[in-house]
Amino acid sequence: MACSAILLDGVSKRYGDVLAVDRASLCVDRGHVVALLGPSGCGKTTLLRLIAGFERPDAGTIEVAGAAAAGPAICTPPERRPVGMVFQDYALFPHLTVADNVGFGLRRAERPTRVPMLLALVGLCGLGDRYPHELSGGQQQRVALARALAPAPDIVLLDEPWSNVDPHLREELRSEVTGILRPLGVTVLLVTHDREEAFSVADRVALVHEGTIVQEGTAEELYFNPASRWAAEFVGTGNVLRGHVQDGLVRTTLGTFPANGASGADEVEVLIRPELLELSPDPEGNGEVVRREFRGHDVFYRVLLDGVELLSHRPSTEVVPLGARVAIRLHEGHVPVFH
Ligand code: ADP
Ligand code: MG
Repeated sequence: MACSAILLDGVSKRYGDVLAVDRASLCVDRGHVVALLGPSGCGKTTLLRLIAGFERPDAGTIEVAGAAAAGPAICTPPERRPVGMVFQDYALFPHLTVADNVGFGLRRAERPTRVPMLLALVGLCGLGDRYPHELSGGQQQRVALARALAPAPDIVLLDEPWSNVDPHLREELRSEVTGILRPLGVTVLLVTHDREEAFSVADRVALVHEGTIVQEGTAEELYFNPASRWAAEFVGTGNVLRGHVQDGLVRTTLGTFPANGASGADEVEVLIRPELLELSPDPEGNGEVVRREFRGHDVFYRVLLDGVELLSHRPSTEVVPLGARVAIRLHEGHVPVFH
């Protein structure tokens, strides 16, 4: 697997009683932008620190850019790994100018040519003499990025890069940062707890739960084919219906679906994403709209069917009034089954 940029195999890391990373395995291809997505405290930052070499694993092996970096008999120090890291709080040196921050890891002789080039790359030409506190948050982030890129790393690690930024600026900064990184061809591993961020920025997403990578795939794969009920609920809202398996089919209140491997007379759960539930006003319909929230391009409905409340998200061009009786139709789509 020498073609991968990052290879984690059964990596664990314990802090006292806390197992921060628990047998995590992951393969990141060169040149990809991959998001590590998971809730707060699930071990994302620890995973980045292990890859960068700031922590040593208790078990497992880590390969970086095709070379063994950490394992039972080896631990390459951070400065000898071709990895640049942008910390969650940027960690700029407050008493150094922008230019000195960016040039910090470079040999003195390289600085006069390389620092202006890096400042130009991140769009900070002419700001080299400023101090970090004289910059906006977005500009500080670009300084941190330029500093991480200074030694021309193969891999850039970004820890929650947009979590301290106002929501309305996030989208702009996301495309700004990925616009800088993608043309360079570097491999990017970015940590986030925000599903939309992971989905919109990354080529692939690795889902982290309790210190382990529970699923890796494209955003579509995770959303439509989650590996577990936990994964399903973390990457989006959904209706989880009880079902009964018979003859290769799952029977639920909303219809019958392929059982996808479930057999016997198993009780299972099926996941139906809210956008798959189509509503049409119908006085004879067996559903009733009991809640309606206008969200702009979508409307979120809660529909009561046989004593169960279901979520339906419809485009706001389709109007169904509160209290209406509706017929519920299931749009064609994959319906995952959980045992
Ligand atoms: P995340 O970045 O996903 O929020 P972290 O990797 O920071 O998660 O932390 C994972 C777990 O390890 C948490 O329970 C956290 O409290 C614990 N932890 C992280 N770093 C340390 C440390 N240096 N000492 C003790 N516990 C730590
Ligand atoms: Mg963290």
